[in-house]
Amino acid sequence: MVDRSLPLAESLSAAMPDLRGRLVSGQLLADVTWFRVGGPAEALFSPADEDDLAYFLARLPEDVPLYTIGLGSNLLVRDGGMPGVVIRLGKPFAGIEPLDGARIRVGAAAADKRLALAAEEAGIGGFAFYFGIPGAIGGALRMNAGALGTETCQRVVEVYGVDRTGAKRTFSNAEMGYSYRHSSAPADVVFTGALMAGEPRDKAAIREEMTAVAEHRETAQPIKSRTGGSTFKNPPGHSAWKLIDAAGCRGFRIGGAQVSEMHCNFLINVGDATGADIETLGEEVRRRVKASSGVSLEWEIKRIGVA
Ligand SMILES: Cc1cc2nc3c(=O)[nH]c(=O)nc-3n(C[C@H](O)[C@H](O)[C@H](O)COP(=O)(O)OP(=O)(O)OC[C@H]3O[C@@H](n4cnc5c(N)ncnc54)[C@H](O)[C@@H]3O)c2cc1C
Repeated sequence: MVDRSLPLAESLSAAMPDLRGRLVSGQLLADVTWFRVGGPAEALFSPADEDDLAYFLARLPEDVPLYTIGLGSNLLVRDGGMPGVVIRLGKPFAGIEPLDGARIRVGAAAADKRLALAAEEAGIGGFAFYFGIPGAIGGALRMNAGALGTETCQRVVEVYGVDRTGAKRTFSNAEMGYSYRHSSAPADVVFTGALMAGEPRDKAAIREEMTAVAEHRETAQPIKSRTGGSTFKNPPGHSAWKLIDAAGCRGFRIGGAQVSEMHCNFLINVGDATGADIETLGEEVRRRVKASSGVSLEWEIKRIGVA
């Protein structure tokens, strides 16, 4: 039984004597997201391994909100923080193991960039696009992350995870229900890893591809800024950045948040932005784009938490 009179992390710890992972109260999410904004997580859990995660989820009361974060490169966390439990996988889930048949087993906490490097080392082609995406594999599996014509769904063989009841699950590529920057796999599943496949390829050719990816990033995107990546999805038949530019929003600023001068579909925390500044700026951009072009932009960045 969970004692509701105690702070959440304390009451969960007391109700789960065999828990081995790290469960803390009040971790500021601004410290673990790319935008560097966002209030505290009521409780943040980093499991020791998959069994520990399953133990935790099987005992977590159904009415406690649950959200999984990766490296926070696609998240805008609001200033009031996250009620309930935030799960963040760490090192125990960061393994990368090349297998025969140009396949790779990868943990959800492995950084995309590390996967690209490991594939190069193993002479496995088809992973160079990950070199420029600043998230981890769990986020890539959920967001169907992609770049330069390749998407995560083209590499996935099967995905492993634990659902809200604590059951370990395996999803085939088809069961992940992939579409543009989206998976329709149940929202409550915490992905723990995946089996992926590429094709055998010369290491020097892979290196060349990765260098091209890095050069493209540096010239086209504000990658050294505090940002959340592409803010809005490209509407069918349109480019979000062109619509934003045409609406006169390049460089537009609210509080400490600004539309990037370099790439209009990126919003930037120029130093002291709050989550509210960034969200208000995004909503104002949507309003101006709608007024100038009639097109409704849809957020690609996930906005989470309470204001
Ligand atoms: C400078 C910059 C450039 C970018 N360029 C690209 C790009 O070229 N292509 C592209 O696709 N994206 C790009 N992004 C966006 C982002 O990097 C990707 O969406 C990435 O896949 C998110 O991974 P993450 O670990 O940061 O996830 P987070 O941002 O932490 O979370 C994103 C979503 O994934 C879910 N999630 C994370 N981990 C798990 C897990 N283990 N189990 C279940 N759900 C999980 C979260 O709940 C959330 O819904 C860019 C971002 C930045 C800041």
